[in-house]
Amino acid sequence: MTLITHHSSVITAFIALGSNLDDPQQQIRNGLRELAAMPETRLVSASSLYRSAPVGYRDQPDFVNAVACIETKLKPRALLDHLLAIERRHGRMREFPNAPRTLDLDIVLYGGLTLREPGLTIPHPRMHERAFVIVPLAEIAPGTSIPGRGSVGDVLRNVDAAGVIKLAGVST
Ligand code: ADP
Ligand code: MG
Repeated sequence: MTLITHHSSVITAFIALGSNLDDPQQQIRNGLRELAAMPETRLVSASSLYRSAPVGYRDQPDFVNAVACIETKLKPRALLDHLLAIERRHGRMREFPNAPRTLDLDIVLYGGLTLREPGLTIPHPRMHERAFVIVPLAEIAPGTSIPGRGSVGDVLRNVDAAGVIKLAGVST
């Protein structure tokens, strides 16, 4: 008898969440709940919520940011499609680069994978220079390595974390 089973392995991935419109804290909390509800996925942990000043286009409200750790059997493309669907449900518009947004969900890390495809780059290409990603990521996974860049803790020492403020008394 031949028994063929198709095991997809469970991958630990990190998702960055950001919002600066329509009650950002609530957008992030709801976003975390929706990450947890994706198929074949478990929410392992979430960072605190942080406030950060906008980057690029400055004339817009401050952002609320967080990072979530998930375990998932979704492949990278399928995971991205679920994230984009969640963004759409939050009324996300794509008006111009760095525009204000109700909810932005980025795949920061997907196991130790390095991927460069049209529309999907992993690790997220700007994560190592974005304090609003690195600070919350370092809270939940300082020892995790970023392919090609050392540990999250190493990268944290090279970003200006001063503008990323933990929101006191707020839990995810
Ligand atoms: P940003 O998050 O850089 O401000 P957007 O959210 O508007 O910009 O960019 C969205 C596009 O970026 C998505 O449609 C997606 O195809 C692409 N993209 C490339 N790599 C990633 C990634 N690692 N995570 C999420 N989106 C990504
Ligand atoms: Mg995005």
